[in-house]
Amino acid sequence: MPKPVIVAHYHELWLKGRNRRFFTRKLATALRQSLQGIPVEAIEQPGHRFLIRFCEGASVEAAIERIGRVFGVVNFAVARPVERDIDALCAAAWDEVEPLRFSSFAVRAKRSDKTFAHGVMEIESKVGRYLLDKLRAEGRSVRVSLDDPEMTCRIEITPGPALVYARKIPGAGGLPPKTGGRMMCLLSGGYDSAVAAYQMMKRGAYLSFVHFYGTGGMPGESSIHVARGLARRLTLYQFAAKLYRVPFEAIQREIVSLAPEKFRILLYRRMMMRIAEQLARRSHALALVTGDSLGQVASQTLQNMVAVGDAVRMPVFRPLAGTDKQEIVSLARQIGTYDISSEPFHECCPAFMPRMPALYSKPKQLEAAEAALDVGALVHQGVKAAICERFRYTDGQVEDVSAEEAGAKVSAAASSQ
Ligand code: ATP
Ligand code: MG
Repeated sequence: MPKPVIVAHYHELWLKGRNRRFFTRKLATALRQSLQGIPVEAIEQPGHRFLIRFCEGASVEAAIERIGRVFGVVNFAVARPVERDIDALCAAAWDEVEPLRFSSFAVRAKRSDKTFAHGVMEIESKVGRYLLDKLRAEGRSVRVSLDDPEMTCRIEITPGPALVYARKIPGAGGLPPKTGGRMMCLLSGGYDSAVAAYQMMKRGAYLSFVHFYGTGGMPGESSIHVARGLARRLTLYQFAAKLYRVPFEAIQREIVSLAPEKFRILLYRRMMMRIAEQLARRSHALALVTGDSLGQVASQTLQNMVAVGDAVRMPVFRPLAGTDKQEIVSLARQIGTYDISSEPFHECCPAFMPRMPALYSKPKQLEAAEAALDVGALVHQGVKAAICERFRYTDGQVEDVSAEEAGAKVSAAASSQ
């Protein structure tokens, strides 16, 4: 059994100037981390791609699943290791190409080991000719297209066996993890904020999460288990994450008793933003992320989003502002958060829902509505009560590491709440 090899490609667009080493190093680290537990012999970088050489017996299926989640990889392929000989290359290329359906193709060779007797052009034209003859002999109407081929059969002459591959597996795309700075995502348990988190991670952001929960009537009825499930799932893409959980019912009650009813939801949101901003500062995060989508519900009109965002100085990113619900739900299915968000949970916001929520509020109105509240004290209360849980990716799985209260370790009783 030859040792399996996977070739991972990245977009060269983000490889501008001095950034190049930074991004490719982060990508190499992410590949290594994602494959932890699968025996890898070496990760090489001959030119603009990674060659991941596995030890004998490594599970290729598991590796495919994991590499498929690494942001920054645009596509990848399992390569056939082949003897360095033109006839062997032709035969392997045919095995690769025969099951694929396409109308135009090209053969592309790269030679990082110059000791191979044949040049790149010669390999390309010999293997190309061989494939064309075989395809035509099978009655398939195909042509060679060097400019815009539907299928590309690639040959890499590296030290050791040559590599042949044609079947591209789409990668997760985006930019490598931890290249875009830190942000704090308000994670509700619903579909939207989990997808929003994914979108920002895909652009290289490194996220922490904050979840506000009310208490359900029954033990275990709150929404914490859902937020935890989502944070755990999302950790697959960035390998570690913190989730702050903040009890919110006492703050809500204060708003209900002291502020005008029609602004309640917006005032809950403003308090969430402020508490999130404080926790973000502690985590050295520079921006907040929410799952808001323009016009989806009353609190997400443009005016209301602006009036809510006005409570904090930190920029608020809303990556789903222009995304339809159907698209959000289909993304949630793809990234594996849909089933977690579908679990029943006790959402804190619908409690004490106003009958007629304000649709177009202004920051000044919300400030006036908050006049009777001690905003600073409520924010402090929320931040102080926050419990931080940590998640870590090990061997393809995410495990819970610990829970801490306001920076200090707490007893198992508090963390198992
Ligand atoms: P989601 O599907 O993320 O719940 P949504 O469309 O249901 O979003 P809302 O429930 O109005 O919208 O919330 C808007 C955003 O506010 C959420 O996407 C999330 O970022 C934040 N948010 C709302 N409730 C909570 C919560 N309990 N904890 C943390 N963040 C929250
Ligand atoms: Mg919601």
